[in-house]
Amino acid sequence: MTNPIPVCVNEDARLAALLGTGILDTAPEATFDGITWLAKSILGTPMSSISLVDRNRQWFKSRQGFALTETPRSESFCTHAIIAEHPFVVLDAMKDSRFANLPIVAGPPHIRFYLGMPLVTKSRAVIGALCVHDTVPRETVHPDQLNAMAILAKLVVDQIEMRRIAETDGLTNLLTNVAFRRAGYAEAERASRYKREMCCIVLDVDRFKSINDTYGHAVGDYVLRNVCAVLRSEMRPFDIIGRLGGEEFAIILPDTNFSGATAAAERLRAAIAADPVSIAGADLAVTASFGVADCLSGQVDLGAALAQADSAMYQSKKAGRNRVTCFPGYTSVSAA
Ligand code: GH3
Ligand code: MG
Ligand code: MG
Repeated sequence: MTNPIPVCVNEDARLAALLGTGILDTAPEATFDGITWLAKSILGTPMSSISLVDRNRQWFKSRQGFALTETPRSESFCTHAIIAEHPFVVLDAMKDSRFANLPIVAGPPHIRFYLGMPLVTKSRAVIGALCVHDTVPRETVHPDQLNAMAILAKLVVDQIEMRRIAETDGLTNLLTNVAFRRAGYAEAERASRYKREMCCIVLDVDRFKSINDTYGHAVGDYVLRNVCAVLRSEMRPFDIIGRLGGEEFAIILPDTNFSGATAAAERLRAAIAADPVSIAGADLAVTASFGVADCLSGQVDLGAALAQADSAMYQSKKAGRNRVTCFPGYTSVSAA
């Protein structure tokens, strides 16, 4: 029997915040492993974890004392721990009808005691929990241990959020090239594991040098921020947007087939062209050229897909700019 998943208020915003951290499906890291090690020693348990609660699963950024990398959300304690911002304690899972029949309670590793300290971001999204678990039930938890868990949970969130700041481009607040590729590779792995579609778009602002040369660098910066605002408002919260460098951007579209990605690129192209920047009372037209590629058909290499989208984008430049070109066959789907 599985647990019904308790509903979080604002689950979509919670999931968007979790995806926005870029932490899901990333490799183990010593800092997080150090925190779970401390949690387990302070609480005196054989197991601990940093569990991030995704739409249908909990995924462990760090774990001590067990081997699973993820479990279905419906079979987790943590899905209950993220409902509120306070600690969630189960002293004896066998005596709690919500948990007694869970596979991890009725079978290995036979969890009886669970303590989950919610991981609450600055925007108050509860993205997961720092947990300790034991095979032996408990009578009580000492307040000092609860305090220690609260401090460690805050360290986990601080670490996740500081990492994100380091990965963010200062001018546009988008992911840097390196962070974008890291997030993209994690997404490509998810897509190939769950047999989902995924596409990418590369775009480059047209004749941007002449905007800088004519109006100055500050106006150029303003134009770049404006293009980013259009990208953010047109794309879905879980699309991954990065600044590859200068006036070139890329987007990864999870769960999107090629025709959907092409339509999204065309929508973006039209939105940027329809949003001139106002300079000293005059409208400065801004356009961009686009390339679209399928990330998974016939390849699992995201780098190759981005290179294909980039070469399609250059085809858009050659064909006159302000248009969308699809990689296979270099078909142009729009023309200004
Ligand atoms: P094309 O249509 O072929 O893409 O022409 P372009 O002028 O956009 O391309 P080019 O590569 O010749 O020029 C890009 C310019 O972008 C040159 C560079 O100085 C400028 N640039 C790069 N990063 C920034 C930035 O952060 N702010 C500003 N204002 N300009 C930047
Ligand atoms: Mg350009
Ligand atoms: Mg460029």
